[in-house]
Amino acid sequence: MNRRISGWFAIIFTLLAVQAVLFAQPDAKPLVLQEMTWTDVRDYVAKNDMVILPLGSTEQHGPQLPLGTDFILATDISKLISARTGVVVAPVLLAGYSLYHSGFPGTLSLKSETIAEVLFETAQMLMKYGFRRFLIFNYHGGNSLAQQTVIHRINQETEATAVAIGVGGPLEGGEEEAFMDWHAGVGETSLVLYLEPQLVRMDRAEKPVMHFTPQMEKLAELAKKDPDVEAAWGSLFGVPAETQKGGSSRELSSNGIWSLGDPQTATREKGRKIVQETVDRVVKFIAAWDQAKVRR
Ligand SMILES: [Zn+2]
Repeated sequence: MNRRISGWFAIIFTLLAVQAVLFAQPDAKPLVLQEMTWTDVRDYVAKNDMVILPLGSTEQHGPQLPLGTDFILATDISKLISARTGVVVAPVLLAGYSLYHSGFPGTLSLKSETIAEVLFETAQMLMKYGFRRFLIFNYHGGNSLAQQTVIHRINQETEATAVAIGVGGPLEGGEEEAFMDWHAGVGETSLVLYLEPQLVRMDRAEKPVMHFTPQMEKLAELAKKDPDVEAAWGSLFGVPAETQKGGSSRELSSNGIWSLGDPQTATREKGRKIVQETVDRVVKFIAAWDQAKVRR
């Protein structure tokens, strides 16, 4: 290569480099383990040891939302956090513990011990490569026990550390509920409308007829005077039909939605607000955790 040509190459290269800097959006794209190469992971762990493990479910979400709602929400929100922080997301399981929803077709369920075991083995694999800080992002109430178990095991049995974010963790976000809106109701419909609108069948969204057993009614009445009684009420709610306590999803709700609200009032804007609050909160948490890290 003669000098003139190499000079041109230098100019073109410089222009390309300047363009790359000007148009690069280093935090616009999420880092998802399955989309990375092994060299990407090698380079990542050289500078960061954090990973987000999303945890959701494949279970009925009323006639209007997809079975994968919780998996999709956990993964989508984790990706938004990744895009803002550069932390890797590693989705492992599509299903969670959802036996109490199995009166509605399509629901999958894994035992809490199975989920915790799969996540723990996953964490052990990731530790081999240098991952040391685990954020278990759970978006399904039924997984709380599995989430706690895997966090306990990582913290007690390994040199890595783990924390809960999302449901069942200290970073549980969102507004205070105005009414019981626990499953596939106004909140979740709004979230899916915001993140994956093409998956919502709004024409099928209708208020469920909720049915509580006489014992639940009595406990709810007593809980108005003494909030401690709510614990007893909660223990009857969301349990498999086989327990014969009348607390399975199919027995409680006519269409699978658990809400006293009307899902027709769900909006993208409500969903955007919840997602924004959750993402902001976790981004802040990650920054603080990073700041506290003592480099060895
Ligand atoms: Zn859900």
